[in-house]
Amino acid sequence: AKRAGRNQLCLFDQGLERAVQESMMLDGALRQALARKEFSLVYQPILQAETGALIKAEALIRWHSESLGWVSPDRFIPVAEESGLIVPLGRWVLQEACRQLAQWRQAYLSARGLRMSVNVAAWQLADADYVADVQAILAANGLLPEALVLELTERTLIAEDPTIEQNLSALRRLGVRVALDDFGTGYSSLSYLSRIPLDTLKMDRSFIAELETSQRCRDLVLHIIAMGRSLGLQLVAEGVETAAQAETLTGFGCHLFQGYYFSRPLPPAELAERYFQEMSP
Ligand code: C2E
Ligand code: CA
Ligand code: CA
Ligand code: CA
Repeated sequence: AKRAGRNQLCLFDQGLERAVQESMMLDGALRQALARKEFSLVYQPILQAETGALIKAEALIRWHSESLGWVSPDRFIPVAEESGLIVPLGRWVLQEACRQLAQWRQAYLSARGLRMSVNVAAWQLADADYVADVQAILAANGLLPEALVLELTERTLIAEDPTIEQNLSALRRLGVRVALDDFGTGYSSLSYLSRIPLDTLKMDRSFIAELETSQRCRDLVLHIIAMGRSLGLQLVAEGVETAAQAETLTGFGCHLFQGYYFSRPLPPAELAERYFQEMSP
């Protein structure tokens, strides 16, 4: 038993060492990636349940590293959050997404009402200059605050950082929309609903995936939607992959859909080709 214990300890150490090494390697490559212009954004449609109309697009970052190839955001975003690199990276994402939205709105009549949804990390929101940064980026692109949705997770709100909450309130007062992302996967979810000035709840795709197989899940989703609606929130279902899921969710009163059943995240030219026909005169 002693021997097995030692082996386990050894395996654990190796696993930990590998994780630390990987994180250091990613961190090193990330530091050069912005200057080398290795990042790009893809945009996933968020559609109205009843009509299928495109209401919002979520900007999702992609990284093609010269040394590592494609690296998934699930791997490098946590590393960038750890090092604080998420602050300049997040600012680049916001700038690029706003630039793209302004370009679409100018080029296509049918893009005039489109909103852009952007993921924001705690480090960004905890910055005293964040509100001014957002205002400056919106103004530089000729966008009203209403055109922007900031997506944050419950993890961001755990800290109960007063700067984060002040920034969120200030942004909300300006007219920027705030969405709670991955809803249902964090801790004590319900306390945020009264504390944070939210517009939108995005139900995590783990609930949507089990809609057809778990009665408990169906009940839960039904009640999340009913609760959100009664609070005046907009409900987005993430990770909708089948027609059956979409049908169930429509029946439950869900407002908006995002998922592979409708569209994968797309490069900007492909999104425009699929959703915007009429050029502006
Ligand atoms: P998220 O914000 O929850 O974004 C949704 C993720 O679900 C995206 O993964 C999207 O491609 C994926 N997805 C969409 N529809 C479906 C579906 O029907 N089925 C399945 N299985 N997946 C679907 P992605 O692009 O790999 O991003 C992963 C996470 O990385 C994001 O999760 C977000 O937390 C983070 N992330 C991405 N871009 C940014 C960014 O610019 N800033 C920050 N801070 N985080 C980002
Ligand atoms: Ca998101
Ligand atoms: Ca999400
Ligand atoms: Ca997620």
